[in-house]
Amino acid sequence: MVRALRCGCGRRLEAGDDEELVGRVAGHLRHEHPSSALDEGGVRAFVSHAYTLDRAAPYDDGEGPDEEFGPEPY
Ligand SMILES: [Zn+2]
Repeated sequence: MVRALRCGCGRRLEAGDDEELVGRVAGHLRHEHPSSALDEGGVRAFVSHAYTLDRAAPYDDGEGPDEEFGPEPY
C-alpha cells in the first residue's frame, strides 16, 4: 500500500505513510513551488487528502496485471 497525493501541478507524490508524505510534499513545494510553500500545518492539511494507492489497480499508470480483461469470448 502506498499513500499518494496529486499536487496541483499534476505531479503525483507517493510515500509509505502519511508522515513520510508530509516530508515529501514539503520538499516538493520547496523545490517546485517556492512561491506557494505551505507551513507544516498547511502541508498536513494537504496530506489529509491523500489516498491509498493500490499497486494492482488497473488505473495505475504502471504495468497492470498479466491477465487480459475484456468480454468473455462466448
Ligand atoms: Zn507540484
